[in-house]
Amino acid sequence: MMMYRDDFKILDQKVYGRPLVYLDNAATTQKPQVVIDALRSYYEQLNSNIHRGVHYLSQKATDEFEMARETVRRFINAKNSYEIIFTRGATDSINLVAASLGRTCLQAGDEIIVSEMEHHANIVPWQFLCEERGCILKVIPINEEGILQIDKLPELISSRTRLLAITHVSNTLGTINPIKKIIEIAHNQNVPVLIDGAQAVAHCKVDVQDLDCDFYCFSAHKMYAPMGIGVMYGKEEWLNKMRPYQGGGEMIKQVTFAKTTYNELPFKFEAGTPSVGDAMGLKVAIDYLENIGMEKIATYESELLNYAVERLTTIPGIRIYGNAPQKSAIVSFNIGKIHPSDIGTIIDKLGIAVRTGHHCTQPIMDHFGIPGTVRASFALYNTKKEIDDLYEAVDRARMMLE
Ligand code: PMP
Repeated sequence: MMMYRDDFKILDQKVYGRPLVYLDNAATTQKPQVVIDALRSYYEQLNSNIHRGVHYLSQKATDEFEMARETVRRFINAKNSYEIIFTRGATDSINLVAASLGRTCLQAGDEIIVSEMEHHANIVPWQFLCEERGCILKVIPINEEGILQIDKLPELISSRTRLLAITHVSNTLGTINPIKKIIEIAHNQNVPVLIDGAQAVAHCKVDVQDLDCDFYCFSAHKMYAPMGIGVMYGKEEWLNKMRPYQGGGEMIKQVTFAKTTYNELPFKFEAGTPSVGDAMGLKVAIDYLENIGMEKIATYESELLNYAVERLTTIPGIRIYGNAPQKSAIVSFNIGKIHPSDIGTIIDKLGIAVRTGHHCTQPIMDHFGIPGTVRASFALYNTKKEIDDLYEAVDRARMMLE
């Protein structure tokens, strides 16, 4: 994948006098030049508010925005483009479903199931519903390998279960959950399923019709696209049932002080001015990924993961958290009793960018009884040489801190 590295100029720099080794891709990926160019050309040539304008620029920007929606539809193989709702990101998407579904369908005593490996963005919005509506949160546990204990799912589902909200890929453990099977189990009990796809869409092919999920949420910035935009895919039947999340311009059909009626999909869920330039950047990022090929990316990243695990496991005292057989290119680890942030701080000075801490997954930290981990996460532009650099830096930090 070396040929694509030149598309990411930001990687070609030194920090503290050393070549930057960027291994914080689960937090956000870098953007290829074509995406940066798309943003620039939007603001240089096309900037205009959409949908409401009769003038040329507004119509052209509207067409581009809707083309971006169609590109997202194709990318995740949704049935209809109006099932693609643009949001600010995965967090916004999940909050949208929680608020909207909560208002529409949930009552005291209703149950929502999440898993122990969820990002806080897929826990806290459901806890709001528990506080506000008297709903009950149930949790699918994980085991010591960081694998979901799916055999516990059937006994967690009851006649009061209204939703299962689960991550496709864990941002801390790297575990790829067998979501197709999980969705089938839930659907057999008439329970709809929301998938948090924030860590999946840039790393494997996602087909929402094949998965048959009811909702699929993700952020653009983790898939080589701009920050500030994301997607909530929802099946038409659910989106029609749900009340809007936010009120304002664009989401209405008619407003009087006596009564307001809502716009059709997808606009019913897109109150206010959307991030048009970012949508165009997202379209270009998807084209970029598809041009390389999602399978090729998945295969390459899996090679990087295997190499990283092979090298890092030779470091004395290291423990890797998350050893599922189906794993995304994320390695979380600790060395003995050394605090993860001490390792992170030392290797930063050697040019290596990783993340340390709880990664917004405190229940995972509680499970393992640790304050945090060091997390290296890989993307299509990373190299084995960078993994060697990571290994050497971490081992050096170990020798300094032990
Ligand atoms: N879910 C998962 C699994 C994530 O990794 C993240 C980002 N760390 C989110 C949700 C939230 O994404 P965002 O901050 O882009 O809204």
